[in-house]
Amino acid sequence: MTMTELVNPSKIIDGNAVAGQVLEELAKKIKQESLAPHLAAILVGNDPASKIYVNMKQKRASEIGIKTTVFRLNDETSQEKLHQAIHDLNMNSDIDGILLQLPLPSHLNPNRAISIIHPEKDVDGLNYINSGKLHMGLAGFIPCTPLGIIELLKRSGITLEGANAVVVGRSNLVGKPLARLLEQHNATVTLCHSKTKSLEAFTRMADIVVSAVGKPKTITANMVKEGAVVIDVGITRTPNGLVGDVDFPMVALKASKITPVPGGVGPMTIAMLMRNTVTAHVLRRRETQ
Ligand code: NAP
Repeated sequence: MTMTELVNPSKIIDGNAVAGQVLEELAKKIKQESLAPHLAAILVGNDPASKIYVNMKQKRASEIGIKTTVFRLNDETSQEKLHQAIHDLNMNSDIDGILLQLPLPSHLNPNRAISIIHPEKDVDGLNYINSGKLHMGLAGFIPCTPLGIIELLKRSGITLEGANAVVVGRSNLVGKPLARLLEQHNATVTLCHSKTKSLEAFTRMADIVVSAVGKPKTITANMVKEGAVVIDVGITRTPNGLVGDVDFPMVALKASKITPVPGGVGPMTIAMLMRNTVTAHVLRRRETQ
């Protein structure tokens, strides 16, 4: 029996099921509107986890009618060569979205490379133009993991307006954009990080706790209030498989809703990449008509 199976099923937010709904809706849209979205993925080097992630994205895409092309660059690729590859994809009118799979080999600067991606093809929402738009509340591409978390909360019937939300972790990929999105949905947001004093004093007051740290047992049962919603973004690889940041079986006893790892936030991240790709395609098609 897995940890997830030990918990009252009504408490579990099933990311696979919600992502499945989103993907089904997208497949329908692609078919009905005769869309032909095309996603380009750039994979630099031989990181095994990155290869798995790109394969998963390719598989989901093909299941719903999104074409993908993977551009593989070797471990020794220079920053200039990477920029040239991105530039070529920016100019390629057949490509709607560009995904630069992270992490890059250590000699490459990811922020410089991401800043080269054309904002209209930046389906990961990490380019500083899209980041700036998000922070100003303007329409643009939003990073897939925080976007997926908001979608998961909404589709699980969780009220964001007026909720006290605590986000643990302040990366540009997850924590910061998520804090901004929760605030835009009228939650009151506290953003915690490694220098936060007495993390539990904040998490104990929260109606919604999101942990995006990458350290198992960052959130334990004594840190959450009865009835809180707990979203676990963390992924740590252990000999026994993937684990999140949350002490799942103990926290689940107090939480009203909780996401498992795996099968919580992860599938939503991929579903939102697909949604952003379809949006990029529709917007570009409108421009050229
Ligand atoms: P990151 O860039 O390493 O950021 C980690 C954040 O956690 C930092 O802001 C850091 O604070 C904070 N932190 C570290 N130790 C802490 C502590 N003891 N207490 C409170 N905060 C602490 O990581 P990331 O890219 O945001 O990813 C976070 C985790 O989510 C990773 O496990 C990653 O694999 C996972 N992830 C999952 C998905 C998914 O789809 N499921 C997507 C993206 C990421 P400082 O800023 O002070 O250093």
